[in-house]
Amino acid sequence: MRIRINRVHYPVVVLGYGRRAGLWVQGCGIGCAGCVSRDTWAADPATEVEVAAVADWLAGLPDDVDGVTISGGEPFDQPAALLALLGALHAWRATRDRPIDLLAYSGRSMAALRARFGEQLARLDAVIPGPFVAAEAPGNKWRGSANQELIPLTPLGHERYDAEVDRPAGQTRMQLGSDGDRIYHIGVPAPGDLAALEAAMARRGLGYAEASWRSK
Ligand code: SF4
Repeated sequence: MRIRINRVHYPVVVLGYGRRAGLWVQGCGIGCAGCVSRDTWAADPATEVEVAAVADWLAGLPDDVDGVTISGGEPFDQPAALLALLGALHAWRATRDRPIDLLAYSGRSMAALRARFGEQLARLDAVIPGPFVAAEAPGNKWRGSANQELIPLTPLGHERYDAEVDRPAGQTRMQLGSDGDRIYHIGVPAPGDLAALEAAMARRGLGYAEASWRSK
């Protein structure tokens, strides 16, 4: 089974509990106004990889992984591939000594997810559903807008996320990553964060050649 992947990163510390593996899928048909991940919208077949390749990457991670966050892009736009990925994640985490939770974002409502994607939900510990709504930004911790809930689904999900459901976002909302060719932001910026970062860079003589969140 193949899945479109935009990027992977470890460790991610701003999208869920603890130190996490981040998987960003490629392709989103929802198109929220104000989305800062426009580079993930196109369902580009050139980004397809085998789910087994993702599993191989996970197998090489250190022992301190606390969880996996699946974001994008819209993970549920590839339902069969997502199901295969979640199967691989379950097999992988069974080989680890620490508890590892699986958290996914979606631009769909919880009702829509429950109606169409029960099999995928059954393999997740928590989900953050709902589109980004710029008029309701910022959201609570790990979320872009106030309409987006954090919904624990399993005992591990409740253990790790019940206390976070209504917690406001703190100061640490973003981190930076790089794959050698590009720098990418990880996390959920509050309104003004990216402009403030760009202004701070400009004061030091730095600038972006391209910025995907400003794409047409
Ligand atoms: S915020 Fe998420 S669901 Fe909305 S357009 Fe961006 S990637 Fe898609």
